[in-house]
Amino acid sequence: MKGRKLLMIPGPIEFDPAVMGAMGMATTSHVAPDFIEAFGQALERMRQVWLSPDGQPFVVAGSGTLAMDMAAANLVEPGDRALVINTGYFSDRMAAILQRYGAEVDHLRAPLGDRPATEEVEAALGRASYKVMTITHVDTSTGVIADVENWARLSCQRETLTIVDGVCSVAGEELRQKDWRVDVALTASQKAVGTPPGLALLVAGPKAMQAFRRRRCPAANYYADWNNWLSIMEAYEARRPSYFGTPPVNLIAALNVSLGQILAEGMEARFERHRRMSRAVKAAVSALGMSQVPLREEVAAHTLTAPRYPKGVDGSLLGRVNAAGAILAGGLCPEIKTEYFRIGHMGVASFGDALATIGALEAGLKAVGYSFEPGAGLAAAEAVLLG
Ligand code: PMP
Repeated sequence: MKGRKLLMIPGPIEFDPAVMGAMGMATTSHVAPDFIEAFGQALERMRQVWLSPDGQPFVVAGSGTLAMDMAAANLVEPGDRALVINTGYFSDRMAAILQRYGAEVDHLRAPLGDRPATEEVEAALGRASYKVMTITHVDTSTGVIADVENWARLSCQRETLTIVDGVCSVAGEELRQKDWRVDVALTASQKAVGTPPGLALLVAGPKAMQAFRRRRCPAANYYADWNNWLSIMEAYEARRPSYFGTPPVNLIAALNVSLGQILAEGMEARFERHRRMSRAVKAAVSALGMSQVPLREEVAAHTLTAPRYPKGVDGSLLGRVNAAGAILAGGLCPEIKTEYFRIGHMGVASFGDALATIGALEAGLKAVGYSFEPGAGLAAAEAVLLG
């Protein structure tokens, strides 16, 4: 029997063998010509993946939380006002980070499983003069997707900078940084970008860089300060050696391979594949008699699915699904943590992986004594995938 199980959680995800190959290469100097080329290429490719032709990419060793920290540390000064569109756990984290840098934070919240209406965002933006508005594109705790395009347009009209936490969206969900007027779009390597954990990735648009240059006081975080990193990114892109902090050589080489694969697939095809995969998994979940945390289809993300356990089933289901070959994630949102679980389906996860995962889910449901028609989930998923 194959020992390896499918990792179908909302990050880290399954990684492509070529990406893992780059992780395993002999580590070179961070100023070796082939590494300089790989880093420079990765920065250029980020602009294309983010659909941000005039953006400034940053690649720094750290997790997604560092990317959030970097956005806040460089754009917020004590006393600035910030509006957090709060759709769950990671929006709370963003608010805590903004407050750490002295921002006065207001929240616009929606009921659990929902997102605010565009009119509510408009009204909230009108209540104060906000320097930044933050949006969690996909809240990984609930599987709710934000309406980045419409909200960022409103924020732009008011000269408020839009920061998008795209940790569970970039390179999976449709996100067009320039066209949608997003000033900062950030993520981490381990999700739809398809590279093992360890990189904080961020693209800052021209208005964000301008706001940074106009700061009155230095960023209150030495490691995150763009003054330390900007010249490094510019140097690598110009194929010149440079040093501030030792870059994670293998991770950046792997990132470059993954970004190359993403661009070879094409962004439009990639967005569509994620939508289809999501429809298939969600159809399977419904066919198996489970509801989901997002309250409506249009607020449900395409990078993960958050099913509620059916009546009589609890978290022990996940152990049974694991035994059948697929690793799924438990709940994260504190209010309903024990009531639901999460299936990640982003990056290189194939249609076959989706079917194997639904098969394992059915096996798990059977093992915990849940009554359903065997194959109902598989048939529903396959109908979408073949349709
Ligand atoms: N934001 C979102 C939406 C996330 O899903 C995560 C990680 N699950 C983070 C931020 C934090 O990223 P990391 O765990 O890499 O620090």
